[in-house]
Amino acid sequence: TLRQQALTDDLTGLPNRRQFRQQLAAALDAAEEHSRPFAVLLLDLDHFKDVNDSFGHATGDDLLVMAGARIRGLLKPSDLLARMGGDEFACLLSDLSDRAEAEALARRLLEALQGAYRLQQQDVYSGASIGLALFPDDSDDLDALLRYADIAMYQAKLAGRGSYACYSPELDRRAHEAMQLHARLKEALDLGHLRLHYQPQVDVVDGTVLGAEALLRWQDPVLGEISPARFIPVAEATGLILPLSEWVLETACRQIAEWTRQGRPLRVAVNFSALQFRQGDLPQRIARVLERTGAQAHWLEIEITESVAMAQPEKAQEHIAEFARMGCRVVLDDFGTGYSSLAYLKTLKVSKLKIDRSFMRGIPEQPEDVTISDAIIGLAHSLGMTLVAEGVETPEQLGFLREARCEAFQGWLFAKALDPEALTQIRAQGRWVPPPAATDLH
Ligand code: C2E
Ligand code: MG
Ligand code: MG
Repeated sequence: TLRQQALTDDLTGLPNRRQFRQQLAAALDAAEEHSRPFAVLLLDLDHFKDVNDSFGHATGDDLLVMAGARIRGLLKPSDLLARMGGDEFACLLSDLSDRAEAEALARRLLEALQGAYRLQQQDVYSGASIGLALFPDDSDDLDALLRYADIAMYQAKLAGRGSYACYSPELDRRAHEAMQLHARLKEALDLGHLRLHYQPQVDVVDGTVLGAEALLRWQDPVLGEISPARFIPVAEATGLILPLSEWVLETACRQIAEWTRQGRPLRVAVNFSALQFRQGDLPQRIARVLERTGAQAHWLEIEITESVAMAQPEKAQEHIAEFARMGCRVVLDDFGTGYSSLAYLKTLKVSKLKIDRSFMRGIPEQPEDVTISDAIIGLAHSLGMTLVAEGVETPEQLGFLREARCEAFQGWLFAKALDPEALTQIRAQGRWVPPPAATDLH
């Protein structure tokens, strides 16, 4: 009937947003002072747009139907599941004993949605982000509960997709801050207020500059200098990372071409984000930027974090092999902080590992850090890879690296990230002699 149609979603046959609101209103009306708590759970599929773009809308539709069925399968009969529109679902979890019960369900849902979907003879991966708001703890108002669950979901995305978050006033404040940061960052990008600086990577033995890592710098007129460690996660969560990364790659390649024209070419490492790495046509995009800017592929080094590479092993393998064919080198960043499968590492066409800065901090005092760094260096060499150590601040750390036969380092001991002119100057100065280690002074 028409009445049913107005309350159900055509594609999945599930209740729609309108019916969800009606039933939530009814539940709130019926609730009494000592009613059991209930939860509003909002769920958003991760990377749904990618699936639509790469496999077509029919496949996207199938994914929505299958995801709906997986969710329904984990709910109690008395729970309500609705499709709110797009790739967003909502559950009304009634009759809970406590918050922990809702959280446990959220974890089971995330797990169930992460597995591969067999669609049109292909395995498609999606996953989800979940936000939770509880009656009566968080609010007894319909719109507030929905808004709070939405804020929590946004926070879950911010924390890295594939996770859940519960609403809290603190989280509200953080979400607000992130939205403000997003707006200002977008403006900075549009107005050309972002800068790319270059941190030298230096030969451990003779102090020559072997390359440089491109690092974003953003000076906001109101908020001051903001670290990429703060704004990159926000850009990842909102999708702004894609146009932002496009700008970074374009700028770095223009700089490569410029240094080549000056007769002093330099290898530049560019950081690639998780979202960027998911783009099926990333190699073609890079090829176009190289062509447009006149930069040669072998001066461009593609830096991805260990966790990005391990999160999507097949895609990573494909992309990395393609980059190698194009002539770009690939480096695994923040190595040692993720969970690499060593068997898998062997199959990746990666030419270099970057030892995470957290290991340098404890060198030479912490025996664990010494042991781990030694082991990483040995591992890389046995796989035919070279290494760069990050975050080298003291002559002692450099001494350790020299002894351990790590090829290169990057860190404040030599220089912070510099603007292109400053880097050109440093390279013109010739040989660098490290300051003596404290122990040498005695
Ligand atoms: P990362 O790629 O691991 O970059 C190294 C970070 O270590 C940089 O921080 C660098 O300034 C810092 N660092 C270098 N030497 C030292 C040192 O001796 N001591 C200490 N304490 N720190 C040192 P930064 O510039 O704040 O960047 C943070 C992260 O933001 C980067 O970590 C990278 O993951 C991300 N990022 C920066 N620029 C970009 C970009 O253009 N695209 C993407 N996707 N991510 C970027
Ligand atoms: Mg990096
Ligand atoms: Mg790093």
